[in-house]
Amino acid sequence: MTPIYLDNNATTRVATEVQAAMAPYYGEHYGNPHSIHALGRRSHEAVEGARAEVAGLLGCHAAEVIFTSCGTEGNALVIRGLLDASPARRRIVTAAVEHPSVLSLLRALESRREIELAVVPVSGDGEIDLDAMVEAVDERTLLVSVMLAQNETGVIHPVSAISGIARGAGALVHVDAVQAAGKIPIDLAALGADFLTVSGHKFHAPKGVGALTIRHGLSLSPLWYGGGQELGLRSGTEPVPSIVGLGSAAVLAVNRLASLDCVRELRDRLESSFGFGSAVNGTSQPRLPNTSSVAFDGIDVTTLILELDAQGICVSGGAACTSGRTEPTATMKAMSRPAAVRFSLSRYTTAGEIDQTIKAVAAIRGRNDRAAS
Ligand code: PLP
Repeated sequence: MTPIYLDNNATTRVATEVQAAMAPYYGEHYGNPHSIHALGRRSHEAVEGARAEVAGLLGCHAAEVIFTSCGTEGNALVIRGLLDASPARRRIVTAAVEHPSVLSLLRALESRREIELAVVPVSGDGEIDLDAMVEAVDERTLLVSVMLAQNETGVIHPVSAISGIARGAGALVHVDAVQAAGKIPIDLAALGADFLTVSGHKFHAPKGVGALTIRHGLSLSPLWYGGGQELGLRSGTEPVPSIVGLGSAAVLAVNRLASLDCVRELRDRLESSFGFGSAVNGTSQPRLPNTSSVAFDGIDVTTLILELDAQGICVSGGAACTSGRTEPTATMKAMSRPAAVRFSLSRYTTAGEIDQTIKAVAAIRGRNDRAAS
């Protein structure tokens, strides 16, 4: 049974074109990009080609892009690297629905008294409270770190307004665009971002490769030292095949953005089938076209996920299960919402798969209601 994969915000399948682009860099062109012989030069050209392709996706210059291993690393490099490079300011402002790669790191730094942290709340629909943001950002603020699109709800945050607030106080802006890349257009200048993080496995590149943009003229301290690759910020021989894959996925993402309109239609069809007894999160806000976060009355999230899984349908949601009930995630708690199921589609999702999912959810809910009555 081929699975119906609706967990694309967790990770995506590597596009066939991406696999094909990577293959020669395992078998044939395996040189170290820093060797000066022909094989090395070939790898170097491939890495620089991919850098330009990623810059094309993010609306910046190739010289502003460095390769990382994942979104978590990019986020850590900005936060820790900036603290090391700019000791004068120690206040960091973020939002309550950030990914743990940002929020857990900031809380750890706060508990070690390395920073002063302000966490701005969100509304029940996941909207960042901009008045609270204005209050939180002051002339001691080093960095404002916000995600462009929320991983559970798909809510798109008003990043350009937030960067305006940050700029007014002389603070820098980091944008975690891990969930946005490949789903909505990204333009670094329009966002007003100084640093922006993406991760390949969220947009049909392989796992283990990502990118970070650093606005020209800004500096970070590296997390570790060595051969000085990637502007001295990420020593270690570059994973050339993965970087080539990231570049290829970036080009595909730019070329296929229009196909996300069809994904949005499928997502909307799915949501409108749920009807009475369901609540979709974030509907008053701009949202990613592929993401649906839904709470269903009277049925536990983990039960629903496992019953869908038994029918070959992959979705996710909730957090650790205590006493048989799924706990809401930190994001849902920040929104004062119950645990929710996340359906996340991709450009490979078909109408037939959505029809099957609609039927499966209806059948499970029907059985659950009958058992309860
Ligand atoms: N930021 C966001 C918004 C994410 O959704 C994720 C992963 O789910 C990450 C960062 C971490 O990315 P990675 O898994 O590449 O470390």
